[in-house]
Amino acid sequence: RKVKGLSQQARDAFAESARAHLIQPWPVAGEIGAESRGGIVSGNGIYVTDIEGRRQIDGPAGMWCTNVGHGCEPIARTLYEQAMALSYNSPWYTANDPSVRLSERLANHAPGDLNHVFYTTGGSSAVETALRFMQFANNVLGRADKKMIVARQGAYHGSTYLSASLNGRPRDHDWMDSAGELVIKLTCPNPFRRPAGVSVEAFCDMLVDEFRNTIETYGAERIGAFIAEPIMASGGVIVPPEGYLDRMRALCTEHDILFIADEVVTAFGRLGHVFASKEVFGIEPDIITFAKGVTSGYFPLGGAMISSRLLERLRQSNHADAMFAHGLTYSSHPIGCAVAETNLDLLEGGILAQARANAPYFQAQLKSLEDLPLVGEVRGLGLMACVECVADRESNNPLALDLEVGKRIDAHCQQLGLLVRPLIHMCVMSPPLTISRPQIDDLVSILRQGISLTQDELTREGLWKGCP
Ligand code: PLP
Repeated sequence: RKVKGLSQQARDAFAESARAHLIQPWPVAGEIGAESRGGIVSGNGIYVTDIEGRRQIDGPAGMWCTNVGHGCEPIARTLYEQAMALSYNSPWYTANDPSVRLSERLANHAPGDLNHVFYTTGGSSAVETALRFMQFANNVLGRADKKMIVARQGAYHGSTYLSASLNGRPRDHDWMDSAGELVIKLTCPNPFRRPAGVSVEAFCDMLVDEFRNTIETYGAERIGAFIAEPIMASGGVIVPPEGYLDRMRALCTEHDILFIADEVVTAFGRLGHVFASKEVFGIEPDIITFAKGVTSGYFPLGGAMISSRLLERLRQSNHADAMFAHGLTYSSHPIGCAVAETNLDLLEGGILAQARANAPYFQAQLKSLEDLPLVGEVRGLGLMACVECVADRESNNPLALDLEVGKRIDAHCQQLGLLVRPLIHMCVMSPPLTISRPQIDDLVSILRQGISLTQDELTREGLWKGCP
């Protein structure tokens, strides 16, 4: 699997320079501004090559984003051609062709009356836009108190102040400030962690009742939006119980609460469709946020698709001069939108169909890892899955193994040719959608070896007694 790496001297220089000058996302205080993470030097198809010359399957597709794979010629050409044709124009005063064309195509794919797009620079800014739009709309409609946002434990929505305030994963808020007074968090809809002795159907009823009671407690006149990833991604690929999203949508409609579907991960083919809300879950949100796969990671772009009905309400309001004072220098970026068009051509031209065809195989092969004693559950949908490790199968306790397990599996897999994305004790798999069945076999076989090696290692070190 050796391809072409850097010399030892170049690797040392890379690490030294990174430690001296680079701050990467989510650092810990003890290492901030003084760490060097594993270098990646190139990518091709589903593979990346690391700084040591090892070719690895890109298990997480970067950060759930490299949907059409690495080294995609048509996208590379679009980047060049659009940069030469028009590299930038001010969205304040002008509009460009790619953004207008892309908006029409996205509107055709989006459910219901989601006919307009506000473009951003990524997922956090897309969520921020949706939330600020909700606040603005309720101000214009004379409902200044209707601003609270209902989110869920386990969710991830971004790293800007308001979007990050919605996050509900362990440790997200330990050392960070947030606009907590605006946010209500409901129970994570994770069937694997439902209360003992409760059926999945009864668990779903409990979740919906919790939302209904929350609306009663706070008052619908104070709640502006409910936001949900159709499948929680960074929270560990949580597929909610059947009917959950539909019933939450119905409560939102009943109480005039905006349903924001955060499709930053689930859109653009991850679940086999351009948007998953309607096609996979049968719901029509009021706003859909997207990013990542919209350009397959070749250009930073995101956006919020907004319902025509909402825009019409604003146009009909008594405040024609009320300004939505929100915009980004790079909103509607011509290069980003042109890349997204080519990306969409590729998805529509066969990759969506391939993802739909291969998804059951991908899920079934990964599911076979459940025979390993360290594995508590393998779950997922489409081309996103999570292997959750547990201390023991009786209690399904994730905590005793905590931090080490995912990292250990990742280290073994990297030696064998697979990048894993460890999330504490979970390994998330979301490869490029172009992955073939033999490549899926390869991915699963390496993951199996990596988990087995980790089991052996933990047993040797006396840290785990899970082997029956
Ligand atoms: N929303 C979801 C569901 C995400 O998974 C992410 C990122 O992982 C975001 C929003 C934030 O996107 P970005 O990192 O592009 O700002």
